[in-house]
Amino acid sequence: MINSTYPHLRPQEKYELMYMSCYPPARTGCLLTAQERTEIPYFRLKHRDTKLVQEGAARRDVDDILEYALRMATGSGAPQDEDIAMKMLMDVIESDFPSNKRAVAANLASFLFIHRTESDEDGFSHAVELCQLSIHLGHYAHIAVFLFLMCSQEFDIVLPLDARADAGPIGVLFDKYDRFQEETGFQPFKSTHCVACGTKRQLRRCSGQCAPFRKPMYCNRECQKADWVKHRKWCVVPVIEEDPDKDTAVYRLHLASAG
Ligand SMILES: [Zn+2]
Ligand SMILES: [Zn+2]
Ligand SMILES: [Zn+2]
Repeated sequence: MINSTYPHLRPQEKYELMYMSCYPPARTGCLLTAQERTEIPYFRLKHRDTKLVQEGAARRDVDDILEYALRMATGSGAPQDEDIAMKMLMDVIESDFPSNKRAVAANLASFLFIHRTESDEDGFSHAVELCQLSIHLGHYAHIAVFLFLMCSQEFDIVLPLDARADAGPIGVLFDKYDRFQEETGFQPFKSTHCVACGTKRQLRRCSGQCAPFRKPMYCNRECQKADWVKHRKWCVVPVIEEDPDKDTAVYRLHLASAG
């Protein structure tokens, strides 16, 4: 499991992670600083008392139902009860609440299937199906990125473009990730594979000034060169002297520390 530290997190840390994985679109979530990722959920948790959330949920206020489920799922501000949280989320998913709310509920349920204490044998496939539902409802959040990374980095699933249509919900995850990656330059922080050739050996991170969430892993110079056409858009490299052949200058600078 990529996130084997989850059970050891404090309730508030679980809340932060679950919130950030399920609510903001992945595209904006990945641009947030580490501080913002902590503060945004913290303010949310502190500014509204659980008692008010509970009352709102009882009145069928959908935001409060989702919030109450999030608190119960993580034991943050409310006693932990994963089963009740899951039931509340399933109710929202099957309701006629607006699709953006149902999409968040599907993400939260997806997250809970992966992280819950007593894991279900087919929890992973439930999680993927719920995540696909959320994508279908127009919401692509970090939980979808996380599930894609589990498939590709941990289960070593490779899905060529022409195999995706027949791969069901997993095919959707792969397609959406590719588009997200192209739009944002996103690279997984703890990637286990070279982005260019897929090997797991001798990986080094790009030494340019690309943002941490955009740093690709390469096995060698050839792979870094091959990927440059894609990565150059996201990698700001200081060019010391004007060189008519800028790309070459960039490589030299860039790879000097890679040895
Ligand atoms: Zn099941
Ligand atoms: Zn490589
Ligand atoms: Zn770079």
